[in-house]
Amino acid sequence: MAKKKDIFGMNITCSFCGRGQREVKKIIAGNNVYICNDCVKVCSDIIKHDRVSIIERLEELPTPEKIKGFLDQYVVGQEQAKKVLSVAVYNHYKRIIINPYSDILINKSNIMIFGPTGTGKTLLAQTLAKILNVPFAVADATTLTEAGYVGEDVESMIQTLLINSNNDIAKAETGIVYIDEIDKTARKSGEMPSSTRDVSGEGVQQGLLKLLEGTYASVAPKGVKKYNTQEFVKVNTKNILFICGGSFRGIEDIISKRLEGGGIGFSAQLKKSRKDYNVGDILEYAEVEDFIKFGMIPEFMGRVPVLVPVRDLTEEELLRILKEPKNALVKQYRKLFKYENVELNFEEEALRAIVAEAKNRKSGARALRSIMEEVMLDIMFEVPYLEDIKSCTITKDVITKQAKPILKFDKQKETA
Ligand code: ADP
Repeated sequence: MAKKKDIFGMNITCSFCGRGQREVKKIIAGNNVYICNDCVKVCSDIIKHDRVSIIERLEELPTPEKIKGFLDQYVVGQEQAKKVLSVAVYNHYKRIIINPYSDILINKSNIMIFGPTGTGKTLLAQTLAKILNVPFAVADATTLTEAGYVGEDVESMIQTLLINSNNDIAKAETGIVYIDEIDKTARKSGEMPSSTRDVSGEGVQQGLLKLLEGTYASVAPKGVKKYNTQEFVKVNTKNILFICGGSFRGIEDIISKRLEGGGIGFSAQLKKSRKDYNVGDILEYAEVEDFIKFGMIPEFMGRVPVLVPVRDLTEEELLRILKEPKNALVKQYRKLFKYENVELNFEEEALRAIVAEAKNRKSGARALRSIMEEVMLDIMFEVPYLEDIKSCTITKDVITKQAKPILKFDKQKETA
């Protein structure tokens, strides 16, 4: 159709659909561009749809209460940590959804989980990724080195995240990275003058600053060799949640000294006076300055504003860990035996003996698995070739005196 000319003798057409003035109701002029009323409507619908999808995405985001409920299924105890993490992670993902549409940009809040070993720090981070259905990567700070040194550079953790996202960059960009053993990057003696600085640890902290804050990390996708830099892809770390974890052994003394104004310290006194001394009581008072005294650099601590202490697990909690979580050890072994058509039972006293032994080993819940494996080795070896076993009962003596478990056979044959 021939386009009519406007009063100035120009052919004006919509820059989006190409139709002329006579074919549409209205054309709005911009700086050398034109848009018709129909295209305005299309654009407005797109924006509306986007708004709806933000609301939908916000509605899909589990509330802090739901996140905590999910954590409860896997992590025993650590009530305060679970609560703080649920809120922090909820806010993190809400921020990702809202920020592109908001004039007030909410800052990223990475997280520091600290406290005794084997108490669930890694498990907490891993479970969070599971509930949010986002990719997850674990990095070990002790294997990281600053650029130019032999070892993994800090970007390798983003590469793992990308691989765990099946090379989906957008997915990787909203994942969670857990950096374990972050305390090992502290200066060897935090309160020493700079001449004794442990340069490489500090270098790792320096190297992490940009990643934690948000930068484009250049990484090799799955299947691409590390030296083939031309095929590297860029992953924006702005929305990646970094959770740092470390035992920070000894930080309780720094905290308690500060609380006591430099005296002997609260923790030393508590240790002496209380049998049920729980380092977590003191860690709750931790502040950024304590971490700096410990040897972390201030710039690093500035990028992990959410401090989450975890507590030593009590015997009752260790007992619950054996029995209650979705993938509790007792449940796992029972399942393994079920495949052999054998019912596996643990006497309560046997479980308590395992807990007592785990307490001695001082590696938190981590010891439970190794004790269990030691205890179950012989019977796991025998069960597949013993015929007609109906049930196997682990008694206290199996744990403490290396006695044989009680086996019951179909034909009423019994051994002890
Ligand atoms: P760390 O605090 O050293 O990161 P992990 O989270 O790696 O400890 O815990 C080691 C193992 O112990 C985990 O695989 C998990 O099975 C068990 N575990 C530790 N703490 C808990 C807990 N609070 N609840 C349930 N299981 C736990």
